[in-house]
Amino acid sequence: MKAAYIVGHGGNEVVKVGQRPLPERHAGHVRVRLHAATINRVDLYMRDSGAGITHQLPQIMGLDGAGTVDEVDPDEPLLKPGQAVLLHPGIGCGRCAFCQRGEGVLCVRMSLLGEHRDGTFAQFVSVPAGNVFPMPAGLSFTEAAALGVNHLTAWRMLFTKAQLKPWETVLVFGIGGGVSLAALQLARLSGARVIVTSRDDSKLERARALGADHAINGRTQDVAKSVMAATGGRGVDVVFENVGAAVWSSAMKSLVRGGRLVTCGATTGDQPPADLRRIFIRQLQILGSTLGNFDEFRDLLDFVERTGLKPVIDSEYTLDQVHAALDRIESGAQFGKVALRID
Ligand SMILES: [Zn+2]
Repeated sequence: MKAAYIVGHGGNEVVKVGQRPLPERHAGHVRVRLHAATINRVDLYMRDSGAGITHQLPQIMGLDGAGTVDEVDPDEPLLKPGQAVLLHPGIGCGRCAFCQRGEGVLCVRMSLLGEHRDGTFAQFVSVPAGNVFPMPAGLSFTEAAALGVNHLTAWRMLFTKAQLKPWETVLVFGIGGGVSLAALQLARLSGARVIVTSRDDSKLERARALGADHAINGRTQDVAKSVMAATGGRGVDVVFENVGAAVWSSAMKSLVRGGRLVTCGATTGDQPPADLRRIFIRQLQILGSTLGNFDEFRDLLDFVERTGLKPVIDSEYTLDQVHAALDRIESGAQFGKVALRID
């Protein structure tokens, strides 16, 4: 089968497009014929370094994917050959204390597609049946693929971790990236008020068109002051961020007393000053999060079907154009998901 895979680390030269063995399907697993995948920043990390992530080369890239069921156990109750499905990218061990408590996302032996095992930039992938979910109605394969990492991550951050309520205000940093846009969509559709930031006016304009209530240019405006002006001097209930050090101070100053900051990334650095006095005097909460559990994915997919949410797709490439697709992510110019169509 055709796939995009890494043979080393460091730049696009290590990314090859060619033939890889068809994945063998074990009992209890489902082999999916992929029609679309989308690209995440971690794909760049795997290409360039992969440090700290146990994996073997060559390895097929990609966490997100949607397609149709190719082969499945005959007694599988939910999934039938030909059915349109999308994938949860995290394969937990099912046996550790965290898995037993229903927190598979904290599994001590978590194996992620495209990080620890062959991923979705391929014509086929085989995963445990529990990771395969029927596609919500009304989505294309590309749109469905986009939900698996960004929207799931944003769902857990907003609703499980930060407990965002419809009458609250959330500040989303760095609008344009996949997870930030997912947060804007989910928070808006849940009824919350959303303030976004970007250093690019055209991205702010597009975010407004998607329902952002207020947009702040982080290059030309003081974010915390603008947030205070937009909230009558109160501050936001929740800060959603994955930018890290560059925005940390603004993020802390933008929170209302007792506010919650939830983070899933540190693109600009992971050692910001903690500002402990502000944290305890104003009783702020700092919450970390990555990805999400099966039950959260189930809820997300029901929410998508109910609300008609469609992930924002920046651009689509073929599997042969994977290098251009990775360049697009690396440029930071994208607004929404960069997708791969797989024939
Ligand atoms: Zn486990």
